[in-house]
Amino acid sequence: MLEVTGLTKYYGDLCAVDDVSFHIDEGDFVTLLGPSGCGKTTLLHMIAGLREPTDGRVNLRGEDVTDRAPEDRNIGMAFQSTALFPHMTVRENIAYGLRMHGYDAEERDTQVQEFLELVDLPNHGDHHPNELSGGQQQRVSLARALAYEPDILLLDEPLTGLDRVLREEMREWLMTLQRELGVTSLYVTHDQEDALSMSDKVIVLDGGEKQQAAHPEELYEEPANEFVATFVGKSTAFEGTVTSVDGQSIVETDATRVVVGDRDRADGEDVSLFVRPEDIDIEPVQATADGGTAAASTSGSTAATAAATVDNAFPGTVEKIANLGNRSEVTVILESGETALANTARFPNIAVGDEVIVTFNSESVVVV
Ligand code: ADP
Ligand code: MG
Repeated sequence: MLEVTGLTKYYGDLCAVDDVSFHIDEGDFVTLLGPSGCGKTTLLHMIAGLREPTDGRVNLRGEDVTDRAPEDRNIGMAFQSTALFPHMTVRENIAYGLRMHGYDAEERDTQVQEFLELVDLPNHGDHHPNELSGGQQQRVSLARALAYEPDILLLDEPLTGLDRVLREEMREWLMTLQRELGVTSLYVTHDQEDALSMSDKVIVLDGGEKQQAAHPEELYEEPANEFVATFVGKSTAFEGTVTSVDGQSIVETDATRVVVGDRDRADGEDVSLFVRPEDIDIEPVQATADGGTAAASTSGSTAATAAATVDNAFPGTVEKIANLGNRSEVTVILESGETALANTARFPNIAVGDEVIVTFNSESVVVV
C-alpha cells in the first residue's frame, strides 16, 4: 500500500533521515516512534511531498509518487498544531480540503455533514475553531484530513499537548474511527504508550535510522538492540560478558553474575541484559531464630521454594515505592550496584530502607 525505499534527507551536513525503508499494508495502523529530533516529521513530510528527499523513493498503491506535488498524492494529514483556519467555520474548514480535491458544492455538503457526524460533532459546523476545546479542534482537523477519502492518513503527534485523560480518550476514539473507516494510517509519536497501545506495527527511529519494525508485543519482548530495549518500556539493566557453565549461559558483570539459560551465545561476547518489572519478584529479608537471614516472599511462596525455583537472586535495599493505583513500582539498589525495578501488589509488605532479595528467572531476561 505504502512503500518507502531508502529515504534519506540531508539538511546541509546534517543527515536527518538515513536510508529508511519500510512498508505499510492496506488498512493497517502503523506508528513511527522515536525521541524528539530523530527525523519523524522530516520522514512524514517526504512521504506527503512537503519536503524533497535527498535520496530514496515513495510508492503509493503501486505508483511512484516521489516526484508528485502533495495535492497529487491523495494523502490526508493531521498535525499537533491543528492548523485550522481561524477565520473559517468548522464546515468551511472541512469543505476547503474537499474543494482542493475537486469535490463540487453538493458533494462537499454531503461529505462535510457525514464527517462531522463521524467525529461526533454533528452540530458544530457553524462554530469557529476558537469556540471549540483542544480535543474538538483535533477532531475537526481529522475530519478535514479524512473527508476527501485519502489513500493514507498521516498523523504527526496529534495528541501531544492534550492532558493525560483526554489523551487516553482520544486514543480510544482514534482507534475506533480508524477501524471503522479502515483507513491506512501512519501515526508519528515520541510516546511509547501511544505506540504500544494503538499499532499493528511500530517502526522505531533514532538518529534518523530505523532501529526495528515490529508488532508492539515483539518490540517489547524481543527488542532488536539496546536503544529499543531502553526506549520502549522500563527494565532492570545489566552489562557483562557471556561464559558457559553446564550448558547454561551466564553473564559476568563487574560485580555479579546473571544466569540467562540456554541462549546460543558465544563465550566472551559482550551483551546487555534487560529484565521487565513484571518479571521481577521482591522478597523481604527476615531475621531467623539462629541469627541468620531468610527471604519471605511478598507473593506468598516460602523462602525455600523461591530459592529452589529461581535462577537469579540478588540482595539489595529498597530505595523507592511508587503506588501506581492498581500496583506499586519498587526501586531497589542492588549490592552489585544496578538499579532494579519491580512491579508488586498495590501495597507490598516492604518499606523504603528494607533489605530485600530481588529474584527473576533466566527465561525472562532479554539479551541484546
Ligand atoms: P522529529 O520530528 O523526530 O522531532 P525532525 O524531523 O523535526 O525530528 O528533525 C530531525 C532533525 O532535522 C533535527 O535535528 C532538526 O533540528 C533538523 N531539522 C528539521 N527541519 C530542519 C530544517 N528545515 N532545516 C534544518 N534542519 C532541520
Ligand atoms: Mg516532529
